Amino acid sequence: MAIILDGKKLAQKIKDNLKAQTIRLTEKGKTPGLAVIIVGNNSASRIYVNSKKRACAEIGIYSEEYALPEDTSEKELLELIEKLNKNSDIDGILVQLPLPGHIDEKAVINAISPGKDVDAFHPVNVGKIMIGDYDFLPCTPAGVIELINESGIDLEGKECVVIGRSNIVGKPMSMLLLHKNATVTICHSKTVNLAETVRRADVVVAAVGRAQLINGDMIKEGAVVIDVGMNRLEDNTLAGDVHFESCAKKAYAITPVPGGVGPMTIAMLMKNTVKSASLACSRGGVE
Ligand code: NAD
Repeated sequence: MAIILDGKKLAQKIKDNLKAQTIRLTEKGKTPGLAVIIVGNNSASRIYVNSKKRACAEIGIYSEEYALPEDTSEKELLELIEKLNKNSDIDGILVQLPLPGHIDEKAVINAISPGKDVDAFHPVNVGKIMIGDYDFLPCTPAGVIELINESGIDLEGKECVVIGRSNIVGKPMSMLLLHKNATVTICHSKTVNLAETVRRADVVVAAVGRAQLINGDMIKEGAVVIDVGMNRLEDNTLAGDVHFESCAKKAYAITPVPGGVGPMTIAMLMKNTVKSASLACSRGGVE
C-alpha cells in the first residue's frame, strides 16, 4: 500500500510556523492583512472563502471580507481593488474566482497590485515564476511541491506528467517541477495517448476536473500520484481526478481527496500573505 501524503497534517505544521511569524510581525507593528472579495452566490466559492477566513483567524492574520452582490459592476469591483491596493493594513488581495460572466476576469487580475497578488495570478508574477525569480508562488502548485519535498522525494531527473494546462494549476505546476530539474510533460484535453504518457511517469499530477479519470492501469509501479482534482459528485461527496484504490495499489505515494492538496493550497495562501507583510515591514510598512 502506498504512503499517504497527508496534506492536512503538513498544512497544520505550516500554519503553526506562520502563527509564530505573525506574532513577531505584529510585535513590530505589522499584522499581516488579507482582503478576500467574493462576488455573487457560488456555493463552492463560499466554502473556499470561509476556509480562508478560518485559516486567517487561526494564524492571527487580519482579514476583511467583501461579499458583493451578483450584479456588482466591473467598475465597482475595480474601484474596490484600487482602494485595497492603497490600504497599508492589507498585504494580500484575493478575488475568489470564477466571477460572474459580465466581469472581465483578466481586467480584475491585472488591477491587483503585483505586490499584493497573493494568488500569483498577475502577469507580472506569472512572468517572475517563469524566470524563477519570484516573491509569491501560485498556491496550489506550491502546495504540491511542499508535499513532495516533505516526503523526501527528490524530483531531479524524474519524469513528471502534469494533466491539465490551466493558468491556475497545470501551467505553473509544470514550471515549478521544471525548476526542480524534473523532465516535464503536460497533457491536456487534446492529448491523444493520455494513458500511455501517464504510464511513463515517475510523478503524476492530475489537475483536470474529471472524477477518477486516472486509474491504476495508467500508473507505473512505484510512481508518486498527486491528485489536485476536486469534483462534487451527485451524492454531494467529493472525488478527486484519481481513482484512489486502484492507484494506491501501485503507487509509492499518493495524496487523498479530501485531505491532500486542498489544505495545502490554503496554507500556501497564508504563507504568501505573511511573506507580503514581511516584505512590507522591511520596506517600512508602507505599500
Ligand atoms: P480547468 O478546467 O481550468 O482546466 C482543466 C484542464 O484539464 C484543461 O487544461 C484541459 O485541457 C484538461 N483536460 C480536460 N479534459 C481532459 C482529458 N480528458 N484529458 C486530459 N486533460 C483534460 O481546471 P483547473 O482550474 O486547472 O482545476 C482542475 C481541477 O483541480 C478541478 O477539479 C478543480 O476543482 C481542482 N482544483 C483544486 C484545487 C485545490 O486546492 N485542491 C485548486 C484549484 C483547482
